[in-house]
Amino acid sequence: MIEVLNLKKSFGSLDVLEKVSFSVNLGEVVAVIGPSGSGKSTMLRSLVHLEEITGGSIRIEGESLVEDGEYPSAARIRVITSGMGMVFQNFNLFPHLTVQDNLELAPKALKKINLAEIRLRSTELLKKVGLSDKADVYPANLSGGQKQRVAIARALMMNPKILLFDEPTSALDPELTGEVLRVIQQLAEEKMTMIIVTHEMNFARDVADRVIFMDKGEIAEMGTPEQIFENPQLERTKSFLNHIS
Ligand code: ATP
Ligand code: MG
Repeated sequence: MIEVLNLKKSFGSLDVLEKVSFSVNLGEVVAVIGPSGSGKSTMLRSLVHLEEITGGSIRIEGESLVEDGEYPSAARIRVITSGMGMVFQNFNLFPHLTVQDNLELAPKALKKINLAEIRLRSTELLKKVGLSDKADVYPANLSGGQKQRVAIARALMMNPKILLFDEPTSALDPELTGEVLRVIQQLAEEKMTMIIVTHEMNFARDVADRVIFMDKGEIAEMGTPEQIFENPQLERTKSFLNHIS
């Protein structure tokens, strides 16, 4: 599904990612953990072309988003990234649109399916995330957990083949994280391919097939949840896990 090879990213003279290589298979859930500033968001954003990488290659379903640091045309990039959805820490909902209009904006703009189908799908997805009664409400009148569930439903509107999450529960009060994690867990059970940057170690342990530990711009350690959480090989992995839990 996703192949990343020797990804390198610098902001000016600051090297943020170096020799990052990994792949994600169809239906797999990969959790990315690591200290603040280790490059987790930059890596994730590179996969959807919110950042342009300095070197290396990214292939999405066999198509090159970037090959040895060279990007194809903007139109081509749009096609390659169109199968990916992203959910951000701070929801990024449109405040002037109702919940249902937030879901329908992008599909309406694309005009690939008709309005009746779009309405059917948004209604169904609001039900899936438990927010049928909030269709006509504005984001300001939702709790953080509800906003994030709207953001997930909105990402699902485009029928993504791959979903990326950047700390989806970090902006939430602790009592609201569960309702969001349950939606993500359900997607995992439905075999959605996902990469999830998270500080929720119990969640990563329960839901991920594989865990990537990033430190100082590189993948320090990668393995099954059992390998990373029960039997980490590196001192820095152990130290990070001790500090966070
Ligand atoms: P956190 O856990 O705090 O979200 P992170 O692992 O997601 O951290 P990144 O946000 O990817 O880390 O940042 C990695 C490094 O890149 C940091 O040193 C950060 O300051 C730097 N960085 C990120 N975005 C930019 C930018 N647009 N310009 C310059 N430096 C940046
Ligand atoms: Mg981040």
